[in-house]
Amino acid sequence: MGADLVTALIGAVIAGAAGLLLGKLNAFKKKKGRSPLWLGALLFAVVLIGLLYFEERPDETGQTDGGGKPVAGTTISAPYVRAEGEMLVHYINVGQGASQLLVGPTGKTMLIDAGNNDKEEMIVAYLQRAGIKKIDILVGTHPDADHIGGLDAVIDHFDIGQFYMPKVQSNTKTYEDVLLAAKKKGIKVDSAKADVNLKWDSGATARIVAPIGDYSDTNEMSAVIRVAYGETSFLLTGDAESKSETDLVASGTNLKADVLLIGHHGSNSSTSDPFLERVGPKYAVIQSGKNNYGHPTPEILAKLAGKNITVLRNDTSGNIVFVSNGKSLDIKLDPWEYIKGKAK
Ligand SMILES: [Zn+2]
Repeated sequence: MGADLVTALIGAVIAGAAGLLLGKLNAFKKKKGRSPLWLGALLFAVVLIGLLYFEERPDETGQTDGGGKPVAGTTISAPYVRAEGEMLVHYINVGQGASQLLVGPTGKTMLIDAGNNDKEEMIVAYLQRAGIKKIDILVGTHPDADHIGGLDAVIDHFDIGQFYMPKVQSNTKTYEDVLLAAKKKGIKVDSAKADVNLKWDSGATARIVAPIGDYSDTNEMSAVIRVAYGETSFLLTGDAESKSETDLVASGTNLKADVLLIGHHGSNSSTSDPFLERVGPKYAVIQSGKNNYGHPTPEILAKLAGKNITVLRNDTSGNIVFVSNGKSLDIKLDPWEYIKGKAK
């Protein structure tokens, strides 16, 4: 039985008991004009027990793939310490949004996106907790707030090496804040576009493979980055949709990846069949949270299940960290959460 189901059942029992008592209380009121003290006290006790249970309940890691099947991964209670020669790829749980932190085999760092504006404090805390002092390469995949919202805070708090964003015009306050933060620190913005080999970690390769063309849709302008270390590889896709995917497939560029970040939070407009075929992932990561778009969609989940691709989701597993030793992959699920100024 899943932990969520147990919680739901206990919740239902407590709510049922409280409801029953409340009913009795009202019945007494009707009959005698006032209810006995013991009934009120009992109702109070039931509600208190309920509140205490939910307050004290240990952190959920919800290790399911949405279909209730457990996902392979070890839960860790402290940040994973990278051993020499290991590369880490963190898919940080920013709710509905995206953020990935990469630490290369020699310790160089890359941050791709930083979640929404309201997650900036959390992102800074996450990076500090992970022992990050400098972001060697910072990438804003495209100007949407759920990706670049936290970038200004990251720029304010950490040393930044190079900073890449695609050439897209945007006049949102969020975008202006990012540009202003960069300007204040004298950081120039390099253009994120296809065929740029990033000077990152000497042990790994990191290449921007998209955007290939000039697209009118902001999502399609997303920087797509392929990172490879030894025999392991990752494709980080921003919100690139089927147009960009089609051009990527047609370009013949190497898209092969063991781990695919599913485009646009699992929207139907991404993860087209030929693209998925060419990437050929073993794992799919979906960065989504509470949203009104229906992300990830049942169609995308069914498509991934149909190809026996293991799905990991931030909304059910929290922070997801892949550990690569250049040959094989290990998965760590990190239940760390940051709520209102403090870590849970
Ligand atoms: Zn997005």
